[in-house]
Amino acid sequence: MSTDRRTRAWIEVQAGAVRRNLRRIREAVGEDVALIPMVKADAYGLGMSRAVAALAPLDPWGMGVATVTEGVTLRTGGYVGPVLVFSPIPPGTYERALEHGLTPCLSDLSALGLLVQAAARAGASAAPYHVEVDTGMGRAGFDWREAGTWGRELAEAGSGVTLTGCFTHFHSADVDAEATRVQWKRFEGALDALPFDRRTLMIHACNSAAALRLPELGADGVRPGIYLYGGAAGRDLPPPEPVVTLRARIVLIKEVPPGSTLGYGATHVARGWRRWATLGIGYGDGLPRSLGNRGSAVIRRRRVPIIGRISMDLTVVDITDLEEVEVGDVATLVGGDGVQGVTLEEVAELAGTINYEILTGLSPRLPRVWMDDGRD
Ligand SMILES: *Cc1c(COP(=O)(O)O)cnc(C)c1O
Repeated sequence: MSTDRRTRAWIEVQAGAVRRNLRRIREAVGEDVALIPMVKADAYGLGMSRAVAALAPLDPWGMGVATVTEGVTLRTGGYVGPVLVFSPIPPGTYERALEHGLTPCLSDLSALGLLVQAAARAGASAAPYHVEVDTGMGRAGFDWREAGTWGRELAEAGSGVTLTGCFTHFHSADVDAEATRVQWKRFEGALDALPFDRRTLMIHACNSAAALRLPELGADGVRPGIYLYGGAAGRDLPPPEPVVTLRARIVLIKEVPPGSTLGYGATHVARGWRRWATLGIGYGDGLPRSLGNRGSAVIRRRRVPIIGRISMDLTVVDITDLEEVEVGDVATLVGGDGVQGVTLEEVAELAGTINYEILTGLSPRLPRVWMDDGRD
């Protein structure tokens, strides 16, 4: 393993943990349920190609992305299995999707029309697509109450395209089993109203939270995302194995006299003689600026407070109580370092957001250093 990328600030990603988290999902829903790992947004910011490689030993049925460009990236990287593009895709991108063998997910009849036209232009036959049924999420999908109507139109779309799957997306599976069951009932009602034999379709509904909370809704396939990457899927759900560690080196240490001020706005003032350590990481790396004067880091297994405002490139911690610390030492801002570790969820809560946003907000400036312990 190269250490040269770990000079200033970086992310360590445990491939083995990603794999084991997917295995836990499989254990929850059972062997017969297909796995469709979500690798959108560059695998939640961690690196799509490495994530796909880490998951490969579990033989997932296919991969889930949000955009055509993400699907093309998967293909360019050599991935040959089914690729579902979950977000509605803009007009003008259907041909590219077909050209790369991607499976679009449709939410209305105008999208069906665009797909049929693109298939005709490309001379495609039986180009596969899935449909989303909106059972309460609202942002995408055909209305669950109207399935008889739009279903007939799908059935008459011609031989250029083929409906191969149908799914819905839950809005509250992280907190609420009951609301999730209500959505599932609506989804089943829509499936019953469709003029398609359900056995010819791949039926899927569960994100990470639903797969763990209501594994009996696993249907034909599940679509876990956050849990694979070490993000808790709900406070009361089994935690994943941690995947991500965010680290930065100390680039400067200062001894400052009482009254010294720190950072933009001089929001922190030294009360006595203090030792400040400047870390080579800032909000330009995706460390939330809202952690200024609130968050903490772990250095040599001890927690130290982030003081002052976080700048674009630098963050300062108070190390007065840690005499042995030197320039070049590593500070951990998310994850690991023993019992003093800072969880992703703790950081998200302090920053007033969710673990998803912390992960996907980690900027390209941080090298993603993938490691594999080789364990199953
Ligand atoms: C992102 C996404 C998922 C994964 O959700 P997690 O909460 O990260 O497990 C599943 N399905 C769809 C349609 C998504 O967009």
